[in-house]
Amino acid sequence: MKKIALITSGGDAPGMNACVRAIVKSCLVKGIVPVGYYDGYDGMMNNRFKEMKTEDVVNIIQRGGTVLGTARSEEFKTVEGRKKAIESLRQNEIDGFICIGGDGSFTGASVLGDEMSIPVIGIPGTIDNDIYGTDRTIGFDTAMNTVVTAVDKIKDTAGSHHRIFLVEVMGRDAGFIALETAIASGAASVLIPEERSNIELLAEDLRSQGKRRGNLIVIVAEGDDAGGAKEIHSKLVPLMEGYTLRYSILGHIQRGGSPSAFDRILATRMGVYAVESLLNGENNMVVGSLGDKLHLTPIKDAVSKESIPDLEHLKIIKALKTVC
Ligand code: ADP
Repeated sequence: MKKIALITSGGDAPGMNACVRAIVKSCLVKGIVPVGYYDGYDGMMNNRFKEMKTEDVVNIIQRGGTVLGTARSEEFKTVEGRKKAIESLRQNEIDGFICIGGDGSFTGASVLGDEMSIPVIGIPGTIDNDIYGTDRTIGFDTAMNTVVTAVDKIKDTAGSHHRIFLVEVMGRDAGFIALETAIASGAASVLIPEERSNIELLAEDLRSQGKRRGNLIVIVAEGDDAGGAKEIHSKLVPLMEGYTLRYSILGHIQRGGSPSAFDRILATRMGVYAVESLLNGENNMVVGSLGDKLHLTPIKDAVSKESIPDLEHLKIIKALKTVC
């Protein structure tokens, strides 16, 4: 293997740069030329790339976002779009491909790899943690820490004004960020898509926990079946006479920031492992970390099987209800 292409694709996640660095450096050590395409599949279709050198990855391990840029491309989903990408990869004599992204990006990589007959390896980079075959995705830990820091601040004002706050967090249609940050921030309750939400029961629960007018936090996953924080707020207010409720949508701050030590380490290990996997002849696989050991899961499983949070953690929140 002489040249490996790499992209970051889909939503950006803190730690993607640490992973790019690890791929580039381990390629260079092995005498392989790493070719970074800009803005995911968009750059690949439009032949925008850079043969990466050590200086391209100096001082990026601590930076959020992705130095390669990322994008979503509808055109790449078409055969014509992928033909353009294949032309660029052929021109560049690429003989292996590493894609850092989520399940949509892996599906794209797998289709491309089959059409072009080159091996592909995926690395899970998404704050949502919703990839089958790994306990943790790159960016999840940092996003959780960002949420916890923000909720700590909201708790200051919630406590001072005796308000109940609904805090909406990201996660697309998965509740990983919500569930884990609810525990870490001492929330009174959490609403996640994996468990059917009942607003009347929530109101009853909050009334029982809020009798002393203490500050209460409810973490709401953006994909919850009852709606986002704004919608749930409007449904809750009529049921909570005598209480003041506010909501806060944390939004894109959750995607940014310097990656945590955990994400840097995970991203670095996964990057090195992906290069080694290609050199070992692996194909159509996604790198995952289970019980802190790295392994490979077929892309077809990673994109088709569901990854759900540990619902036992809901019991922890219920076990720690405020007794008034
Ligand atoms: P993520 O990788 O975070 O899940 P997306 O689902 O938006 O993000 O996928 C990223 C990109 O991967 C898409 O914009 C598209 O270019 C490519 N992609 C997604 N699904 C497919 C598919 N079925 N076939 C080919 N390419 C795809």
